[in-house]
Amino acid sequence: MDALKIFVGGHWRHGGGEVMQSTFPADGSLNATLHAASLEDLNDAIEYADSAWREPSWRNMLPHQRAKILHKVADDIEGRLDDLARMQSSDNGKPLAEARGLVMSAAATARYFAAACELLEGELPTPRQPDLLTLSRYEAIGVVAAITPWNSPIASEMQKVAPAIAAGNAVILKPAEATPLMALELARVFERAGLPAGLLSVLPGKGSVIGDALARHPKVRKISFTGGTTTGRHLAHVAAEKLIPTSLELGGKSPTIVLEDADIEQAARGICYGIFSSAGQACIAGSRLFIHEQVYAPLMARLLELTRGLRVGHPFSRDTHVGPLISEAHRQRVLEYVELAKQEGGRVLCGGEIPADPALAAGSFLQPTILEGLKNSDRACQEEIFGPVLVAMTFRDEEALIRDANDSVYGLAAGIWTRDTGRALRLSERLEVGTVWINTYKVFSISTPFGGFKESGLGREKGIQGLKAWMQQKSIYLATGNSVNHWCD
Ligand code: ADP
Repeated sequence: MDALKIFVGGHWRHGGGEVMQSTFPADGSLNATLHAASLEDLNDAIEYADSAWREPSWRNMLPHQRAKILHKVADDIEGRLDDLARMQSSDNGKPLAEARGLVMSAAATARYFAAACELLEGELPTPRQPDLLTLSRYEAIGVVAAITPWNSPIASEMQKVAPAIAAGNAVILKPAEATPLMALELARVFERAGLPAGLLSVLPGKGSVIGDALARHPKVRKISFTGGTTTGRHLAHVAAEKLIPTSLELGGKSPTIVLEDADIEQAARGICYGIFSSAGQACIAGSRLFIHEQVYAPLMARLLELTRGLRVGHPFSRDTHVGPLISEAHRQRVLEYVELAKQEGGRVLCGGEIPADPALAAGSFLQPTILEGLKNSDRACQEEIFGPVLVAMTFRDEEALIRDANDSVYGLAAGIWTRDTGRALRLSERLEVGTVWINTYKVFSISTPFGGFKESGLGREKGIQGLKAWMQQKSIYLATGNSVNHWCD
């Protein structure tokens, strides 16, 4: 198998760094080998980027022409939906149906930012003095870094690259170690769509080497990162030293709340999807479940029935609900959390084990797991497990519920299940999280801003703000009268 080439400033070449592999988490088979980007590749990519974004043909490109590139990207992706979904599943083990959803969302993201780029307008703030006109323009930032995780590459990468390009920047994309395939494929898609060379580079490599050097490079003027809170904090330090903007989409430990009047069937199904889709490997996974004690028994009975019925299996099988975890090392880490939860007094109601099916023996599969008997202050309720593990707790009084739901360093998302919309809205206002889902969970709209409170992140992606986040604002003052400044008289 030939080693894959990386994409440096419009040129396909073998990376100068160490050998990396992409393996299929369902059976450990090899998808591809490649050489990581070296520091020399990184420097070259940045030099290409720095001249490409200043190029008058790009700076002055009319918004509809820039939009056209993004529409071509979307057309290309939509036309190869199945192939791209398969590639995504091979890289990270997501079931095909989920991967297809991500591929479609990536195309929709490209279209949204194509439209947003055409609609973006500067402002004409009204000056407080006569004979003055003030204009506020949105301009590109320059060379920007996008650093992404392995759990939903095509979606998280497009969510950064599309608005960054729509805004007129040159982007250096550093995908996660485990999942280089999709980012390299996106480079091909943008190249085919006619994106001028140098405006996108894709540099696979170790986060601590290439990711770190990218963030620190003096010519990089913005860092957009999605991943773990520890790495996010490190990048925030780097950005603080350089005084550049950062956007950080980090971890979560999201509470899902079932009030006493909830539709039990609707809630049980939504909760099951909210935690066990993507095998729980989602920053927004609804991993802490708070159920009103009056409905604990019926809700749990139905939730357990649904969870026991989930099919853990090969990502390419049409009827698989839960695929493998990203790696054996990660599965081990999740299992250690299940052990810890037991030591903390947790009872395993279902799962907690490796599936017995010999057909799954070569992959890093894990049964969907539900625990009860823990307190919110226990480590299993405070730390992000990033796997198919749900902790169920009860509550009686709303004040205690709010206290516990907010008692977390994270603040990414929350779910509320109730027939009382007014009460849900009142509760939403008190939850310290960036997204609240009421009677639904883990649904997204590209026009709705997304991001975390507290240690779940900084800044927002998506929506018009998601485009402006890749731009900087310039104010221009123009005197409209003939008055002369008399200060030096
Ligand atoms: P996860 O726990 O989801 O793997 P990480 O935060 O470790 O999350 O990784 C997310 C992305 O950040 C990956 O592309 C990874 O290579 C990159 N990364 C990891 N460490 C660093 C670092 N020190 N500097 C820059 N990027 C990093």
